[in-house]
Amino acid sequence: MIVFDQVHKSYTVAGRAIPALHPTDMTIKTGEVFGIVGHSGAGKSTLVRLINLLEPPTGGRILIDGEDITRYSANELRAFRRKVGMIFQHFNLLSSKTVQENIAFPMKLAGIYSKAEIRDRVSELLARVSLTDHADKYPSQLSGGQKQRVGIARALACRPTILLCDEATSALDPQTTQSVLSLLADINRELGLTIVLITHEMDVVRRVCDRVAVMDAGNVVEMGPVSEVFLHPSHPTTRDFVFESENVDAGELAADLQKANGRILRLTFKGDATYQPLLGSVARASGVDFSILSGRIDHIKDIPYGQLTLSLVGGDLDLAMKAFDAADVHVEVVR
Ligand code: ADP
Ligand code: MG
Repeated sequence: MIVFDQVHKSYTVAGRAIPALHPTDMTIKTGEVFGIVGHSGAGKSTLVRLINLLEPPTGGRILIDGEDITRYSANELRAFRRKVGMIFQHFNLLSSKTVQENIAFPMKLAGIYSKAEIRDRVSELLARVSLTDHADKYPSQLSGGQKQRVGIARALACRPTILLCDEATSALDPQTTQSVLSLLADINRELGLTIVLITHEMDVVRRVCDRVAVMDAGNVVEMGPVSEVFLHPSHPTTRDFVFESENVDAGELAADLQKANGRILRLTFKGDATYQPLLGSVARASGVDFSILSGRIDHIKDIPYGQLTLSLVGGDLDLAMKAFDAADVHVEVVR
């Protein structure tokens, strides 16, 4: 478990303290995929670099499995850092070393593994990230997705319990992003690794994360299970991210709602409710007529969800609302 207790961080620039992270409380559970989403400059990288003490906090306590890592000696810190792997947007591979040498590098650096251990581990990792046939290539001979897979294998070399990913898919095209995210999800599931994943895209969070923190100007402004935060965002920054990921133009949506008649509801279906033919039966039973203003069906990790914005006219609106409620559909009155 990773616990932030009033952790804050300021950088000193030309003698002045510039706050990058305001006092923050946060708990990341063992084995979860925890997303941190925010615009550029929000403080995401600062926060994640505090987790492995690449940056020391200005104040507050950082507890990992109950131990305050800010009090570690240099030796304890070195051992702790082996338990934390990290991958980066621009991969940070050594260009003069081959794929297998890159993967072996952290093990060699640690100085505690035998040659045979390193060789076995590297071939195991090459297989895990599907790069066995590319072991002797140099980074310049690889595609972006392959480079990030080398980055992942290298991060896993010393068998970490925590994997930090700083914009790990931001330099990749959508298809490659999906394959890297699937690999991370497999690793999380199969190895039980805790993954902290930083991104500026809500879509990345939606696909792999269990919980998410939304950052804005050095503050965590919203935090919770992805299905809660994504489907019912409460902070304006979160709403912007969700709209952006759904390609919704907030201005256009507002104009559409202006034109619509009657009561406007947003219905959220989750899990099995997504597939129930509910609208027709509710319309028949209540006599309410509806038109669909916007809609989307997708997945949050493995859970299907649907979200519909409807305008409803005539009939027995109360009855319709009760029927939605009884079917476990979340109803939000927009107007
Ligand atoms: P993000 O990763 O969300 O883009 P960062 O954590 O990199 O944000 O940066 C947060 C703020 O801290 C920014 O205003 C940035 O300019 C500042 N900052 C980051 N690193 C340093 C540094 N090493 N020295 C001074 N200021 C920094
Ligand atoms: Mg960053």
